[in-house]
Order: sequence, then C-alpha cells, then structure tokens
Amino acid sequence: MDISAGVMIFAETAEGKLSSITKELMGLGTRLAGKLEKGLSAVLLGAGTEPLATELVNLGADAVYLADDAFLENYNPEQYASVIEHVIQTAKPAILLMGQTSRGADMAPRLAFKFRGALAMDCVELDADSETGLLTHTRPVYGGIAMARARSRAASLQVVTVRAKSQDPAEPADDREGEIIAVGERARGEYAGGMKFLRPVAVEADEVNLEEANIIVAGGRGVGSTENFKRFIEGFARILGGVPGASRGALDSDFAPANLQIGLTGKIVSPQLYVAIGISGMVQHMTGCSSSKTIVGINTDPDASIFKYAHFGIVGDFEQVVPALMQKCEELLKN
Ligand SMILES: Cc1cc2nc3c(=O)[nH]c(=O)nc-3n(C[C@H](O)[C@H](O)[C@H](O)COP(=O)(O)OP(=O)(O)OC[C@H]3O[C@@H](n4cnc5c(N)ncnc54)[C@H](O)[C@@H]3O)c2cc1C
Repeated sequence: MDISAGVMIFAETAEGKLSSITKELMGLGTRLAGKLEKGLSAVLLGAGTEPLATELVNLGADAVYLADDAFLENYNPEQYASVIEHVIQTAKPAILLMGQTSRGADMAPRLAFKFRGALAMDCVELDADSETGLLTHTRPVYGGIAMARARSRAASLQVVTVRAKSQDPAEPADDREGEIIAVGERARGEYAGGMKFLRPVAVEADEVNLEEANIIVAGGRGVGSTENFKRFIEGFARILGGVPGASRGALDSDFAPANLQIGLTGKIVSPQLYVAIGISGMVQHMTGCSSSKTIVGINTDPDASIFKYAHFGIVGDFEQVVPALMQKCEELLKN
C-alpha cells in the first residue's frame, strides 16, 4: 500500500505500552485511510519502543517509522518535532493525527506551521472527502455547549489533534503485514535545537486517573459536606467500578481535593458514564465533561442547567436518590 499522501498517526506510549489514545488514533486512521483508499502509517519515538512497532502493525499500520534511540528516552519537544519532521519529509502523509495530549498539543502547531499545513485541535469527529482528501472536523466550543464544524482548505499537510475517548480503538489482528522503517540515526544528526533535557522531577501521582476512567461519579457543592462526598460520591463510584470527580463548587467548599476537579480549569474527561450529583451544570464545569457518552444529573432544582446536558435526569434530594441507586446497583452488579 502506498503510504504517501496517506494518513499518519503519532503513537504515544505510557509505561512501556501503547497508550489508549494511540489505539483510538489507529482506529480513526484506519477509517480515514480506507475512505481515501490510501495507506496508514505510524511514527513511534522513544527508547526501547521496538516491540511496540509490531503491535502498531497488528493494529493496522502499513508502515511504522520507528525512532528507537536512547536520546529519545525523555521528551524534548524540539527534538521530537525534528524527528517527526524528518519522517514527514520522507513519508509525505497528507494527514497527521495526534492525541489532544500534552505532547500532541505541544507538537501539532509546531509541525503544522513548519509544513504550512492546516491545523485543527481537540476534535471529536473527523470525516474526509474522498475526492479532495480534505478533512471536515468537529470540535466542542463554548465549553461544550455547541459543536463547531470546519473544513480544511487545500494544504500539503492537515494536522489534527483528537480528544481522548472520542474514537473507537482499532482491533488488533496477528496476521497483518507492515513495514518497520528505522529512522533514529539520521534524524538524530539533524537535530540542532537549543533545548536540553536536564532531569526528571517527580510529581505526586494522582491516585485517581480521571482522564482514563470509564465511569465517573462527580459531586458538587450540593452534596453539602466532606462526609457526604465520601459516603455518597466515593461510595457510589466504588459500587459502579468508577472513580470520583468534583466540581469547583465542591472544591471551594473543601468537600473534595483539587486533583478531582473537572472543568475548564480542571480535567477534561470523556467517560462512558458521568453521574453529576448536586452539580448545577455551569458551562465551566460542563467544558470538562460534556463529551461523556451518557450523563446522568441528580439535582433538587428542576431548572438546573445540568438537565440541559443530561441524557437522564433525576429531580430530587441526593440523600434520598443516591442511597436507593447505590442499593439497586449493588444488587444488580452482584448478579
Ligand atoms: C474562569 C473560571 C473557571 C472555572 N473553572 C471551573 C472548573 O474547571 N470546574 C468547575 O466545576 N467549575 C469551574 N468554575 C466555576 C463554575 O462557574 C461554577 O461556579 C461551579 O462549577 C459550581 O459548582 P457546583 O455546581 O458544585 O455548585 P453550585 O453552582 O452552587 O450548584 C450546586 C447545585 O447543587 C444542587 N443541590 C443542592 N442541594 C441538593 C441536594 N440535596 N440534592 C441534589 N442537588 C442539590 C443545587 O440545586 C445546585 O444546582 C470556573 C469559573 C470561572 C469563572
């Protein structure tokens, strides 16, 4: 399969494995490449990443550009971008898909600018015109209360970052064939940037990984106390096999720690199920969770904004509603 003018994805790793966004990008890349009748390639950077190249082939890559080198062990945006630039010049993809992650958001604008390409960030839907190859991208705006749809104009390279959990991941198959192309050494010679990695600084790891969670039970100011937050929000999350989250209202009232905040100035999440309890649904909160697959709102106020977003709404006092839900869910999940 000719991969020039095709689709390329930037593969990210976490703890020695392909990260979940990479599998989603492979799923999306496969669909777009199929529609355009072009090849799909991946660019994989890091140290000790070679075994993951085969995994990318199994996920559907016709070619994997592998830069497996000790000098790529630690992320340096200039260095990484320089290697990817080299790969783009060689492979000549028409579309580059990256995750809306700290690395993707860091490099996508650099690469789009470098190649005078088109750039769309934080997309949740993508489609390609099979005649022109131009992308139509959809992304949430105004805190997720509206979707903006735009089309790329003719560009040599269309760079897109994609929000996590917005795409179906690719399914692996062992019998796929693809080429693994080593690019490390040449790319290394071409790096002449001024940024140098000094040392890693450990930050306290979050016990709760909200961004990766499939089920989130979030509490707001309406839960009334730290004890209620623990009992009803954390307790309900545990029963459902999910994790707790919080609004800024809950944080400001000291009901929940800062690492649980969801929203404009907190974390952006896209779980399968988001249960918002005692949360009014202000736009700054909904920015962080409106792309959840199913939203359930529980609030005493029938006019609360949360009900504009919720797929299911319960008007009532959480102290009555949540224990009943906890009991029922526990029963159902036991069987
Ligand atoms: C620049 C900026 C950035 C911000 N960033 C964020 C952000 O990242 N995340 C965020 O969450 N907010 C953020 N905010 C704040 C945001 O505007 C809201 O103030 C906040 O989300 C409100 O939190 P809340 O819904 O918990 O509280 P409230 O708005 O006070 O709502 C509490 C809700 O609980 C309901 N309630 C009360 N008692 C009960 C009961 N017994 N049972 C059921 N329901 C009950 C009430 O009806 C009410 O709807 C930001 C604001 C600004 C200006």
